[in-house]
Amino acid sequence: MIDRPLTLMAVHAHPDDEASGTGGVLARYAAEGIRTVLVTCTDGGCGDGPGGVKPGDPGHDPAAVAAMRRTELEAACEVLKVSHLELLEYADSGMMGWATNDAPNSFWRTPVEEGAARLAELIRRYEPDVVVTYDENGFYGHPDHIQAHRITMAALELVEAEPKVYWTTAPHSMMKRFGEVMREFGADFEAPDEAQADEMPPIGLPDEEISTWVDTAAFGDQKFDALAAHASQGENIFFLRMGKERFTDLWGVETFVRVKDSTGAAVPETDLFAGLR
Ligand SMILES: [Zn+2]
Repeated sequence: MIDRPLTLMAVHAHPDDEASGTGGVLARYAAEGIRTVLVTCTDGGCGDGPGGVKPGDPGHDPAAVAAMRRTELEAACEVLKVSHLELLEYADSGMMGWATNDAPNSFWRTPVEEGAARLAELIRRYEPDVVVTYDENGFYGHPDHIQAHRITMAALELVEAEPKVYWTTAPHSMMKRFGEVMREFGADFEAPDEAQADEMPPIGLPDEEISTWVDTAAFGDQKFDALAAHASQGENIFFLRMGKERFTDLWGVETFVRVKDSTGAAVPETDLFAGLR
């Protein structure tokens, strides 16, 4: 058995992804006494500015946005009781095809080896037992999410340790229910099985391909409050419109696909730390 605290490391692209993607497991495992380390790769400078000013519009100052988002990220970490926040501070690359993809210090144009070497240092320092990041498509195709995936998988090749590794995902059944709720709230949304496969990359997985279902319903309030801490991005965070109860009802289970494992824990599993304690 291990004589140091069990540790979860989540590698995310932007401030707010920690809450939407893994807020439930961060809160739950902190409550169970597990050390939680959040690595946020970019500064979120392509987010909305004060007063809702959009990136690229007059008055949008990426440096000011980044500063504001850092404060919000720190507040979200307090809510989720994250033990350690590590910032790689690359520039937010914006959506695929934006000029910001090629800006100096953008995460997207950073060589994978460079980001991986920095992340490998953090992995050596914290020795996580479990590492969570996105799938190769960054869950929904955002360049910074794809790059977070790439540097994480490359960093794991550089270290001796062999943590369990997971990619966040969503079962198609949940995406379908989410689509119904979005339509109910008047938002535009196509469930993955209705969307043209050649138009957009596939989001989520068929239910039977999900290896890991973690019940985080008891931490729904914390997850919602962590999302709400990113107030400047509120217009883009659809979940906040649903209210706490509907939100927890819909996303009270966080799901993952296990891609590396040396514990032999049987799947499907209900705990990222199955086989480790
Ligand atoms: Zn993001």
